[in-house]
Amino acid sequence: MTYTSTLIGYPYIGDDREWKKALEAFWRHELIEEDFQAKLKSIRLSRIEKQLQLGVDVVTVGDFTFYDRMLDTALMFGLVPKRFNWQGGKVDLHTYYSVARGNKSAVASEMTKWFNTNYHYIVPEYEGQTLQITENKVLADFLEAKAAYDIIAKPTLIGPYTFFKLTKGYSKLTQVEYLLALLPLYAQVIQELVDAGAHWIQLEEPSLVTTLDPEDLKLVQEIYSQLATTVPAAKLMLQTYFEALCSYETLITLPVQGFGLDFVHGYKGNIESLRKFGFPNDKVLAVGVVNGRDIWRSNLAEVNATIQAIEKLGDAKELWIQPSSNLQHVPISTSLEVKMDPVLKQALAFADEKIVEIIQITKFRNNQDGIHHHNFSESMKTIEALKNHPIRQNKIIQQAVQTVSMQDFARHSDFTQRQKLQQQALALPLFPTTTIGSFPQSDEVKRNRNAWRKKQLSNEDYETFIEQETKRWINLQEDLDIDVLVHGEFERTDMVEYFGEKLTGFAFTEKAWVVSYGSRCVKPPIIYGDVAWASSITVKESAYAQSLTKRFVKGMLTGPVTILNWSFVRDDISRKDVAYQIALALRREVEALETAGISIIQVDEPALREGLPLRKEEWGDYLDWAVNSFKLATSSVKDETQIHTHMCYCEFNDFIEPISELDADVISIETSRSHGELISSLQVNPYTKGIGLGVYDIHSPRVPSEEEMLAIMRDSLQVLDRHQFWVNPDCGLKTRKEPETLAALANMVVATKKLRQEVKESISR
Ligand code: GLN
Ligand code: ZN
Repeated sequence: MTYTSTLIGYPYIGDDREWKKALEAFWRHELIEEDFQAKLKSIRLSRIEKQLQLGVDVVTVGDFTFYDRMLDTALMFGLVPKRFNWQGGKVDLHTYYSVARGNKSAVASEMTKWFNTNYHYIVPEYEGQTLQITENKVLADFLEAKAAYDIIAKPTLIGPYTFFKLTKGYSKLTQVEYLLALLPLYAQVIQELVDAGAHWIQLEEPSLVTTLDPEDLKLVQEIYSQLATTVPAAKLMLQTYFEALCSYETLITLPVQGFGLDFVHGYKGNIESLRKFGFPNDKVLAVGVVNGRDIWRSNLAEVNATIQAIEKLGDAKELWIQPSSNLQHVPISTSLEVKMDPVLKQALAFADEKIVEIIQITKFRNNQDGIHHHNFSESMKTIEALKNHPIRQNKIIQQAVQTVSMQDFARHSDFTQRQKLQQQALALPLFPTTTIGSFPQSDEVKRNRNAWRKKQLSNEDYETFIEQETKRWINLQEDLDIDVLVHGEFERTDMVEYFGEKLTGFAFTEKAWVVSYGSRCVKPPIIYGDVAWASSITVKESAYAQSLTKRFVKGMLTGPVTILNWSFVRDDISRKDVAYQIALALRREVEALETAGISIIQVDEPALREGLPLRKEEWGDYLDWAVNSFKLATSSVKDETQIHTHMCYCEFNDFIEPISELDADVISIETSRSHGELISSLQVNPYTKGIGLGVYDIHSPRVPSEEEMLAIMRDSLQVLDRHQFWVNPDCGLKTRKEPETLAALANMVVATKKLRQEVKESISR
């Protein structure tokens, strides 16, 4: 048996986020296109060089992007939405970024979560456009790597089935015409790669790990048999990840030359399938054995045992050894962390360290290292050391989690009762206007925070600055005549770090960035110990803001499930137990806010949905503890205290029930990029508590008009009672600039006032 080391994909953001910086400089017109292209080329090549230096046998190309790989694929096929007035030919960067981010005259394409990750891709839109190859970018990348390093890289594409499934806009009627147009183009791209000398081509098909019905299966079979006949010379590696391959016995016979399976997240299912059905002896099996989603070192002895088991169960003619998914979901290298707790650091593996693990295990299997057990015991020692770390020994909190009971999840009274009491206490107008929490993190805010972090600004001066900014925005909100105010979140960079810093059990990194959407990167904290409340987190900021105004200011917390889902989480106890630990800590914070006189408390759960398992049959279990965690954090307040929550990118259709079960008094959700769908799903599944439908898209700098927002509000009132309806942008405003924010909010308030007038007239009529 021969073993080959390879990757599904490698992060593209650069060791120091050079990629992000280049994109943003280009958008600000600080980089001309030529220099921008040169910069991106150097980033693209340096990642290949690094992989070669580390010793990866087969390097992957096509995993790089200028914004998002789904967008690249769509535009490669000429799938430019008509509103961007593209005239055909190569898609220029202006059009490319307009589709991604919107421009003055057209809204951006919708963005949504990439399976169960925290990455968001641009949703391709089929509107009956004439499809055509605009540019074979993967081929360009392949040739570039060949020219620079004399290598035959493995080009990767988002596979045709997944791409088709994730496109929106076709109907049962037009889907055939779409597919018939799409497949020859896939064939052409692949043929060009083969002609250029590519040996293997990786087609990424994560949709094949979701639940597939017979119709889906037939479609997959048709797609692949067509490819096999149109590009017979191509060697296709059908790559799956994030779960076990669905309908293994059927799909494994597809006419491709190799299969990539996830033996980390899909371990159980894939091993079972191998045991039952074996593996075809004419295909290569690429085994994802090092976790591509977490940051922990692998237990190499276990990895080795997994590979041995796989070998015994199947007849694969060759094995490729690789991480379980694209490494874009993990940071680049632990070597960039200099301040970290050494016990923790030694137990970590980011992308580069995972590559080292892959190489070690490949070499060991190929016996290039002789018998080499000491590598294995090294990884075990670091894992053991972390287990015994004092940060994991908080008996009180461990005990508290075990003794949580049903009562701890419930508010005193039910929603109808609370609604009455809250309306008496708060006396808000019809269609209360509010925002989601954050206001623009201006250059000044960032500058001050950096100076303070570098100790160039004292604690007092920093706090004074934050207070000034809060005060300025309280005044601005009053001038805008917004009803329920927020303090603006100037003290935080992102939604988790600020909380993690004040709770026990968290570690923070310096450079451990991962991409979240477009150029936006996040630096997830690491939950490596027991989580407990140590001192108040947000009370000072909220109470200060409230002291400045007669209007209500919302307290603003990140919820337990989001903190969990947006962190890298210890894997020695269950996620549920970690979530309950966080929830108990937040419960104390919620109580502290209430005691400090805050009457409306928003607990954001934008990441609730993204924790959903990929397989529907596992949803119930997750939702039980996730919903309970939210309730554990929020249910101890008085009936009069109004609990809000907020979610983004919420595909609502299958999710209204769990949202309702959170028992929040008001929820605000992202909808402006997919408004129509939400309205129709509310028609089918009525929602009865307070709800704010985002009336404009904050992910784009575009300022929406009054009329546009008014239209959305009128639509919403078709399916919602007027006493339920809140008006707000669809997410926090921290990434926006101040002028566009003020302009958009001014339009939003005017639109709301018009709506109130309309409703008043219609009632009096
Ligand atoms: N309160 C947060 C903010 O406004 C919510 C952000 C989010 O949903 N991602 O920034
Ligand atoms: Zn949001």
